[in-house]
Amino acid sequence: MDRQRAQDTIEKLRRQLEEHNYRYYVMDDPAISDTEYDQLMQRLIALEEEHPDLVTPDSPSQRVGGEPLPFFEKVEHAIPMLSLGNAFSFEQLKEFDQRIRKTTERESIDYVCELKIDGLAVSIRYEEGFMVRGATRGDGRVGENITSNLKTIRSLPLRLKEPVTLEVRGEAFLPKKEFERINRVKEERGEVPFANPRNAAAGSLRQLDPKLAAERALDAFLYGVGEIKGKEVPTTHTASLEMLTRLGLKVNPDRVTVKGIDDVMDYVDYWREHRLDLGYEIDGIVIKVDDLALREELGSTAKSPRWAIAYKFPAEEGVTVLRDIVINV
Ligand code: NAD
Repeated sequence: MDRQRAQDTIEKLRRQLEEHNYRYYVMDDPAISDTEYDQLMQRLIALEEEHPDLVTPDSPSQRVGGEPLPFFEKVEHAIPMLSLGNAFSFEQLKEFDQRIRKTTERESIDYVCELKIDGLAVSIRYEEGFMVRGATRGDGRVGENITSNLKTIRSLPLRLKEPVTLEVRGEAFLPKKEFERINRVKEERGEVPFANPRNAAAGSLRQLDPKLAAERALDAFLYGVGEIKGKEVPTTHTASLEMLTRLGLKVNPDRVTVKGIDDVMDYVDYWREHRLDLGYEIDGIVIKVDDLALREELGSTAKSPRWAIAYKFPAEEGVTVLRDIVINV
């Protein structure tokens, strides 16, 4: 594609993606399915890779999430909450593994595979063991203070089993049964139902009245440590998840630590078959380097860490597709 046409298409894709970001992240009301959104984004990334001089820092390909809502107090994250790079094929997973082995000059890498919960990323701060603050990811740098709403999640302890100061990260979500119950109630009241559990969870946590959040049985899995004081820092991700469990936090038991990318692909295959058996929605598998020193070495781009990737499941029957759109722009 010549430069002028590429520039026009890039501009058009950016405007579309910005509009969809606004509806998804700010309004909690998407107009297209995630698969359709991912296709638009892949198209933009491919064109930007072909024409690197056209990449701008404000392009949706370079940015995390959406702006925090103005009526919430803003919370600046001590360590940015990034997004994840995506893989849509095993080929792309192998390339991810090759890049890491090349950079770190290792023969084989240990990975942790986790379910990618389709919810809302949150950060929770405990001081001397007590929950003091909870926030959304927002644009990755600044999130929204949603402490009162997060305190209504019964599986999130208000006090840890040890007096540690810790910022922990995870995903708040709505179990499928609860999503269906809420939508039944909405329909009975003549209200517009939520498009999917992710938007219902985000909509419940990002409103001002904590009573509304308390009426909905939200849940949360924790999957990462942001900052830690008063405790020895683990050297692997596996050990840090075990530490979170010992502290009384809910970590998803459906995870594995494996050696090399072949076992990662087996795990992905298993969950591609079984994802619909779970009581909550997942949209993929997150693959993370286990060795935390290696992660430091690999670092991050402005948008995502180089030591992790999200394998996204292909769209399937039984998974909500909101409406058809024409991807060819
Ligand atoms: P992402 O969904 O590709 O991945 C990053 C997120 O995964 C993290 O922030 C975290 O919230 C989540 N996650 C779940 N389980 C995890 C685990 N075990 N470990 C680590 N992280 C885990 O990236 P994103 O920036 O949150 O969102 C982009 C995606 O959102 C798009 O690819 C699309 O699917 C969807 N989206 C859809 C629309 C739409 O209009 N339909 C608009 C914007 C975004």
